[in-house]
Amino acid sequence: MTRVAFVGLGHMGGHMCRNVARAGFDVTAYDLSPEAVARAAGDGARPSESLTAAVREAEILVTSLPGPAQVDEVLTGPEGAMAGLQPGALIIEMSTISLAVARRAQAFAIAHDLQLIDAPVAGQTIGAEAGTLAIYVGGEPGAVARARPVLEAIGDPQRILHLGPAGSGYAVKLLLNLLWFVQSVATAEALTIGVRAGVPLDTLHAALVSSPANSVFLERDVLPLLTGGDYDEGFAMKLVTKDLGLAIDLARDVGVPAELSALVEQIHRRARAIYGDDAGEMSVMRLYEDAARTELRWPARPELPWPS
Ligand code: NAD
Repeated sequence: MTRVAFVGLGHMGGHMCRNVARAGFDVTAYDLSPEAVARAAGDGARPSESLTAAVREAEILVTSLPGPAQVDEVLTGPEGAMAGLQPGALIIEMSTISLAVARRAQAFAIAHDLQLIDAPVAGQTIGAEAGTLAIYVGGEPGAVARARPVLEAIGDPQRILHLGPAGSGYAVKLLLNLLWFVQSVATAEALTIGVRAGVPLDTLHAALVSSPANSVFLERDVLPLLTGGDYDEGFAMKLVTKDLGLAIDLARDVGVPAELSALVEQIHRRARAIYGDDAGEMSVMRLYEDAARTELRWPARPELPWPS
């Protein structure tokens, strides 16, 4: 049985760790939160009281942490995992972080004779729970092949995409989030304008879905909000604005002007400032609802497709 250490047991990592344990790996779990470690123990993982103890015997380390600062600390800090792992171990880093921190971690990994791949995810907490996440992978082909059985316990095998060398996974993940959060602002504007213009929300939604302006966001992802008022607290606004900031940093690093993205980031930052760090990722929709004093809601209709 491959020995896996799993570090970061939050909204995503808690479910991902459970799925790795269920797939038959020998999992040791660690998080700063003792409650999260206790939940993982209930899900079949061995609880650990420290990062050092969690990684000591591990052949593979999986991390799912909030952002660049935490990944930097956990992997390369003075008490970090890279100092404690056995040479030859593989690190599967699944957070959404910057390419700058990724490059630093890669240099540390080489110096410590470790393998490191980036494998950030998409698919919300629903996908994490079901083990159907999409995974965007960057790294050496040999390391990616070695990681594959663990990745298949976490994600949909058809949507585990090896995109290129180290860093490619992070770049694609930042861009898909950027596009999705641009769409959430655009959709909020269009729906609010339409409702204020007197078109019933369900009629407006159905017409847009069957038009060339349709998107997965419009057809599927916004439905829990429109039908049930769910702003999706599984992905917090502090992480939304973190990801948008990283996408803009990436644009700046590669010399691409990104005026629209910068504006969209500011709108989401406004939503975070008003509704709070832990408010749900759809809070930007609420910004428009409040500004126009218009609730974007229709009674739940069971025949509507639900996100999978
Ligand atoms: P979260 O804040 O719920 O969980 C992060 C966990 O890391 C927490 O339990 C926290 O205690 C732990 N942690 C922080 N610092 C630590 C340290 N130094 N040592 C050990 N544990 C530490 O975040 P999340 O929503 O689970 O997201 C995790 C990552 O996945 C983020 O990078 C996020 O951007 C990305 N992501 C999230 C979603 C989502 O829907 N929530 C979807 C796709 C990607």
